[in-house]
Amino acid sequence: MMLSPIEEGFYYDFEVPEPFSPEDLEKIEARMGEIVAEKAPFTREEVNHDEILKLYQERGETYKVDLLENTISDETVSIYTQSRFRDLCRGPHIPHTGFVKAFKLTSSSGAYWRGDERNTMLQRIYGVSYPKRGMLDKYLGRMEEAKKRDHRILGKQLELIAISDEIGPGLILWLPKGARVRNEIENFWREEHLKAGYELVYSPHVARLGLWEKSGHTEFYRESMFPEMKIDNNSYQLKPMNCPFHMAMYRTKRRSYRDLPLRWAELGTVYRYERPGVLHGLMRVRGFTQDDAHHFVEPDKIDEELDWLISFCLHILKSFGFTEFEVSLSTRPEKKIGADADWESAEKGLRKALQKAEIDFTVDEGGGAFYGPKIDIIIKDALGRRWQCSTIQFDFSLPERFDLSYVDSSGELKRPLMIHRALLGSIERFFGVLLENFAGDFPLWLAPIQARILPITDELNTYAGEVMTALKKVGIRVETDTRSEKIGHKIREAELMKIPYMLIIGGRERDSGAVSVRRRGEGDLGAMGLNDLITRLETEIKSKALSPKKQPK
Ligand code: ZN
Repeated sequence: MMLSPIEEGFYYDFEVPEPFSPEDLEKIEARMGEIVAEKAPFTREEVNHDEILKLYQERGETYKVDLLENTISDETVSIYTQSRFRDLCRGPHIPHTGFVKAFKLTSSSGAYWRGDERNTMLQRIYGVSYPKRGMLDKYLGRMEEAKKRDHRILGKQLELIAISDEIGPGLILWLPKGARVRNEIENFWREEHLKAGYELVYSPHVARLGLWEKSGHTEFYRESMFPEMKIDNNSYQLKPMNCPFHMAMYRTKRRSYRDLPLRWAELGTVYRYERPGVLHGLMRVRGFTQDDAHHFVEPDKIDEELDWLISFCLHILKSFGFTEFEVSLSTRPEKKIGADADWESAEKGLRKALQKAEIDFTVDEGGGAFYGPKIDIIIKDALGRRWQCSTIQFDFSLPERFDLSYVDSSGELKRPLMIHRALLGSIERFFGVLLENFAGDFPLWLAPIQARILPITDELNTYAGEVMTALKKVGIRVETDTRSEKIGHKIREAELMKIPYMLIIGGRERDSGAVSVRRRGEGDLGAMGLNDLITRLETEIKSKALSPKKQPK
């Protein structure tokens, strides 16, 4: 009933008794082809809002009536006609249907009217259209590749994560292999933060409701919070954010300008209520770990702090192999709290820091939250898809609500500026992005199993065990396939699990104290002594190099 353009393509919602089948989509596509061949012109007319509303009311077009009554308030609205088809549309349109060169209906699914589950479930057909056949083919190829890389499929196949109804929707089980990757991400994150002058803190998963009233979450964030719970006749709240805890920590002693800036970071697991319909694998969940931090800064030191923070942020993202970023700066909205001078210096600081780092950015004027301006950093993955990861967000509200202060150099009590920041965003989501970006071929430093030892016969299992011990001793994540299977079978299974190194052991390797090495994506590297192998693995791990591309067949 309503056509909407989206970032890639368009959709149209229909009220039909049965969902569309793939055959239905084919039939519709065929009919679309006929209409394109007709070169039917589109004509636009402007009509009076109330007149057209009356017409649709008479015709019983309830959805169009809903739109006209509740979302379209313009005095005149535009209508497009093509052959016998007439519909509300803002336009613009191509002159006639013959301009459509390449299109495809890609999928269909149920969709509630206006996205609200209290409304009727409609059937939505998604499609794409391109001015050239080649562009469409490229798009379809990309979609095919994205399907193969779906983190929900790879997560299961590679035994990384599990989501089950028994646990609850949007709650993730990290299996041993997934946990290994996560552990590597978190270890790296912790080390870099400590080196960079952060302090690491921990906070509980629940707190008294009063804390959330003080922070304003019960007032402004209630919809995204789990219901409160009663413990000893007191109300408690599962945490949707870490911030109030860090504010409370700041207040545990008097702070001096000499202590600032304070940088406190936490891998803090939070719980947010998301509607069942929007949950999606690791990308949209109900429990996730934020790589959160709060900076408490003297107002006149804010420029230095932002310069430093932006370069730290890019360093972390680049370490995971991301090199393309889209950055946006959101400035003060009409309804806001905080002094104009603070907004001024915060916005200027953010702008200057981006310019200094020579980062192109767009400005979303008035797009900031009511409590402060922010920078968002979006990464682009191997398929050109965009993922929002990092946020650097000023907050003029929490320091006020928690009455944070420090003693400045002249002995006066002052209010510090406070910045929230997340770099990876959510560990769950970032892991999902990494998994899809690498198509499961993690760089060696992140791979859950870095090497698998494959003895050709059972007699070689003892030597295989010795090799495994030697590698484990230097911290390589390694396992041995000791089953009495043919070597071809063992190799195929190791390939399916996308294990970076296969170490094949035959009699000759044992006798010379070597292993035969295969690097995934690179092929056979021949026999290698144990020390040479260890040096190679350690060098590759340390460099954080991406996995080699597969050789063309
Ligand atoms: Zn925060």
